[in-house]
Amino acid sequence: MQASVPTATRIKMNSSQTTSRLVKKSPSVCTDLPLSSSDVRDKLRLMKELLGSCYGPTARLKQVHNNIGGSVVTTSTSSVLLQAITSSRPVIGLIKSSVLNHVSRFGDCGLFAAVLCLSLVEEAARRGVGNSAAIRAYDRLLALCTGYLQREDCGCRVELDFCSSRSLIALARTVVSSKPTCVLAEPESAHIGRLAVRAFLLTVPCDAPDPVRLGRTVTVPVEGRPVLESAVFPGLLLDAPEHLCGLAGVRGPVRAVLFSASLAGDLGELGDGRIEVHAGVDTDAQILDRLLELGRQALEDGVKLFVCQKVIHPVLQHYLRCGGLIVIERVGVSLMEPLIQLTGAQPVATLHAAIPSAAYGEVHDVSIRHFGSKTMLHLHPAGETAVCSMVLCHRNETMLNELKLVCQKAEHVLRLTLREPWALLGGGCTETLLAAYVRHKSKNDAPEATSALGCSQTEYLLAAEAFCRSLESVAACLEHDGGASVIDLTHAHHWTLPSDVTEQHLEGGTAAALCGCGALESCQKKKWSYLNSECAEFSPAPLSTASPLRQPAVLDSFSAKVNALRVAVETANLVLDVRYVIQDVN
Ligand SMILES: [Zn+2]
Repeated sequence: MQASVPTATRIKMNSSQTTSRLVKKSPSVCTDLPLSSSDVRDKLRLMKELLGSCYGPTARLKQVHNNIGGSVVTTSTSSVLLQAITSSRPVIGLIKSSVLNHVSRFGDCGLFAAVLCLSLVEEAARRGVGNSAAIRAYDRLLALCTGYLQREDCGCRVELDFCSSRSLIALARTVVSSKPTCVLAEPESAHIGRLAVRAFLLTVPCDAPDPVRLGRTVTVPVEGRPVLESAVFPGLLLDAPEHLCGLAGVRGPVRAVLFSASLAGDLGELGDGRIEVHAGVDTDAQILDRLLELGRQALEDGVKLFVCQKVIHPVLQHYLRCGGLIVIERVGVSLMEPLIQLTGAQPVATLHAAIPSAAYGEVHDVSIRHFGSKTMLHLHPAGETAVCSMVLCHRNETMLNELKLVCQKAEHVLRLTLREPWALLGGGCTETLLAAYVRHKSKNDAPEATSALGCSQTEYLLAAEAFCRSLESVAACLEHDGGASVIDLTHAHHWTLPSDVTEQHLEGGTAAALCGCGALESCQKKKWSYLNSECAEFSPAPLSTASPLRQPAVLDSFSAKVNALRVAVETANLVLDVRYVIQDVN
């Protein structure tokens, strides 16, 4: 049978049927004003609730399943959660991809960006601010915030002192304790915070020529051991082959050679090119001869450590071991770069030529370390190198995976401080302080703003209130146990009250001993207001006037948070600006 197929027709083939069916292609669907749809608004609200419930140290965990029976992931990390969220609504996809892009660049504050963005969209609608007025006002208020955060007298910015590790540890610890899936007790999160800082400092070269290249931290996960056994070592740890487990160690200097080429002796591994085989010649024996030739050269050149990225032929392995060499195979491509940095060796990529003398590297010595059931070779650097190994121990696989993720985040956040040596007050204090500042400024700024933005004063003030409420609602998201979030009316810091604490406790100064960031102590003189309730605007007093003044214990990454703030506002503006959605429904 023949059918003429019109160009706008799609053929659906069903493999179980022998006939084919012709289905007319449906035209794309155009939706006007997507935010006016209650379905879209419900989905945005649901997404805000979901992500908000994962925010902070007491967050509720989420389990991510897929429908084909893969592994179940337990997490509260934005990058994992957002990747698992799929929606037919393009605005959700827009928010998701902006936040994921931010996280891939800055490693932290993904949930902050997502919750703030969703709140900004929701609050503008709740207050009935027109979309275009909201967009222009949000832009101006964002500039007000970023300008304030760059100011010398900014109340929520803390200068990092690299002469002491205290503030760096506070920064790392905040990242670590913000992820409850790690299930860490206080001393454990303090230990991991200190380790993260130690690993970071080991990867900053002391006197390297320009341009400075930061080193590498290689993570070694060990399941089933207590977290407090986690440790950081300068140099590299490699899985020790079984026959080396009884080794006492090798005093150095130890000459090393690295092979990136396979030494398995398979024809297929030899690379591109023509191979001529003469009749009667045993190619396997010829390749093995070549491998043994390389082994002989390594032995004669005084090599003690022989490492291959891929597989080493068992006969060559035996030959090298009999010569007293430490032989390690299958280290994998990810360990090659740190091995090159550590040893100074040039990896040998071919077995058809002699090993050039420049290819050899060196380590100071090799020792054996045991972690639970794991035995590892510890390669100590010969000189100053920026390579270190972090052994992470935890009770089970889920907790260990999240701990690994969290340590990578902490490393990322610590590295950002090299470019911008500041931190922001954590625990919601930056959000409440910024909200108080913006509320106060926008009141004074309203006449000028309205003429610049071309909107009415009422509209501008409503948009400013939506902006401040959104910031405050992110701070309030930190509380998950039915407690209340309050702000003090002097410094505008954030405080959480347990659910059984009343206003009398508050006014008597007996509740909430410390604010979210830990810089302020509660006292009787303080005036309070519940978050997201009406209160008179005021200008937050600088922290230096507080007594007693304490070191903030909870710090957030400056670079990550400022960018997250920008991403949240810009994405919210983009969502508010979408007039039509055109979707292919085929
Ligand atoms: Zn505070």
